[in-house]
Amino acid sequence: MSANDLLNNFSSDILVGGQWRAGRGARYASLYPADESVNAEIAAADASDAAEAVEAADAAWRRADWSGLKPHQRAAVLHRIADLIQARAEPLAHLQRRDNGKPISETRALVASAAGTFRYFAACLETLEENLTPQRGDYLSMSVHEPLGVIAAITPWNSPIASDAQKLAPALAAGNAVVLKPAEVTPLVSLELGRICLEAGVPPGVLSVLPGKGSIIGDALVRHPKVKKVAFTGGTEVGRGIARLAADKLMPVSLELGGKSPTMVFADADLDHAVAGVLYGIFSSSGESCIAGSRLFVHTSVHDAFVERLVAGARALRVGDPLREDTQMGPLVTGAHRASIERYVELGLAEGGRLLCGGARPAGEGRDKGYFYLPTILAGLNNEARMCREEIFGPVLAVMAFDDEADLLRQANDSVYGLAAGIWTRDYKRAWRVARALETGTVWINTYKQFSISTPFGGWKESGVGREKGRLGLLEYTQQKSLYWGLNEAPLPWAAGA
Ligand code: NAD
Repeated sequence: MSANDLLNNFSSDILVGGQWRAGRGARYASLYPADESVNAEIAAADASDAAEAVEAADAAWRRADWSGLKPHQRAAVLHRIADLIQARAEPLAHLQRRDNGKPISETRALVASAAGTFRYFAACLETLEENLTPQRGDYLSMSVHEPLGVIAAITPWNSPIASDAQKLAPALAAGNAVVLKPAEVTPLVSLELGRICLEAGVPPGVLSVLPGKGSIIGDALVRHPKVKKVAFTGGTEVGRGIARLAADKLMPVSLELGGKSPTMVFADADLDHAVAGVLYGIFSSSGESCIAGSRLFVHTSVHDAFVERLVAGARALRVGDPLREDTQMGPLVTGAHRASIERYVELGLAEGGRLLCGGARPAGEGRDKGYFYLPTILAGLNNEARMCREEIFGPVLAVMAFDDEADLLRQANDSVYGLAAGIWTRDYKRAWRVARALETGTVWINTYKQFSISTPFGGWKESGVGREKGRLGLLEYTQQKSLYWGLNEAPLPWAAGA
C-alpha cells in the first residue's frame, strides 16, 4: 500500500478493546504541519472509552491467551510485528511525516528503529532466564518475573512511532495488556501500529489505541484502579502530576521527561567534528527533541572562531519541505508551539541576548503556510537566564563562553534537568573526569544524539524516573515473585506431630 493510499483510506476510528469504532470524544482534524492541510478526521476517545479499554485489557490479560503464551510464542508475534513494520516502512514513514512534519529521511530512520525495538525485545524475552537463588534451608528457592497486568503507555508527539515501540515492545513482551495514549496531534502512526499489532497476532483487547486529549484520556487512565503501571514520556509538569496520582495508588511509573542539555567544547576539540555535532545536537528534529543540546559552552580561546563557524553552518541548514530527501529541518509541530518558541526568543533578547542568526520564520514564496522557524542562536546570555533554564523544545541555542573546568561543571550541572550532555575534547582523561561528574543520564563524548536500543536511557533529576531500553528494560514491565519449594522429608518442626 502506498503512502497516499494509507492516508486516503485512513478511517476516523480508534481501537478500543479489540474493536475499531468511533471514539466518544469530540472529532478533531489531524493537520500536516508543513502546509496545515487536514490529514484525517479523528473521532477522539473520551474517559468512557478509556474505562472500556482498561476493562477489556484487564479481561484480556486474565484470559491468558497472551500473558499465558510461552516466551518464544510471544516473541514470534513480536517478530511478526517487526516484519509488518518493515514491509510497510515507506507508508509508515510518510504517516509519521504527516503527523508531525519531520523530514522523510528522519521518519524513515524512526520506523527502522521501531522495527528493531520489537526484534530486540523479542530476543530479550526469549533469552531471559529466571533465577534459582542460593539454597539456605530445606527448600528450593527461585525468583520469577510476572507481568504487571494493564499498562498505560502515554507518549508525546515528537517521535511517536519510536516512543510507542519503546513502550509497547517490552510491555507486550512481558505479557501485559497495554492501553496506548498517543499525543492528540499525532494519532496517525500510533493507530496504524495498533492495526499492525492485531494483524501480527496480538489478541483482541490486549492493545487499545486512544488518541485524544491527555487531560481527559491520559488522566482517566492514570487514575483507573486496574491500570497497574504508567509508562510516560512527555513534559516534566505533566509527569509530576502523574507521579502524584501514582503515589496515591502506590503504582509504579516510569517517567521520561524534559531536558536542557549542556554541550561543552574544549580548546583541544576536533572543531570540524564539534561544529557538525553541535549543529546536529540542537537543530536536527527542529530542536523538538528531549535531548537537544540547547546550552552550549565553548572555551574562550576558541569561542569566537567556533561560533562564527557554527552560525555559518546554521544559516546553511536546509529548512523546508519534509518530503524532500535533502531537507534537514521541517516545520514545528503546531502553530501554538511555534508561538511559544517565538516568545522564548523575545524573552532571551529582553534578558540581554544577542541574536546571531535566525529568530524569525523563513520568508519567501510559498512560506505563508506551515509552522516553519529558522535555526536560531543567541549569545550574551548567562546560565541564569530563563532561556538557559527552561526547556524550549525548538531550534534555539544559547552560546556561552567558559574558562575553567570546575566552573564549567558547576554551570552544566546547575539545572533542574539531567537528561543528557555532550563533551568535545581530544583529552580522554578530561573526557572521563567530566563525563563522570555530569549529573545526567546520558553523556556523549565526541559525538551527540546517538541511540541504541541495547543501551539504557533515562533522566536524572527532573528529567525522569526509571530507564527504558536495554535488557533490563523488559523487567521494568514485570514484577518479581519468589517461589519456595519444600524439600523436607519430615513436617516443619514447629507444629510437627499436630
Ligand atoms: P506533554 O507532557 O504535553 O504530553 C505527553 C503526553 O501526555 C501526550 O500524550 C498528552 O496527551 C499526555 N497528557 C497531557 N496531559 C496529561 C495528563 N494530565 N495526564 C495524563 N496524560 C497527559 O508533552 P508533549 O508536548 O507531547 O511532548 C514534549 C515533551 O516531551 C517535552 O518536554 C520533551 O522533553 C518530552 N520528551 C521526553 C523524552 C524523554 O525520553 N525523556 C522524549 C521525548 C519527549
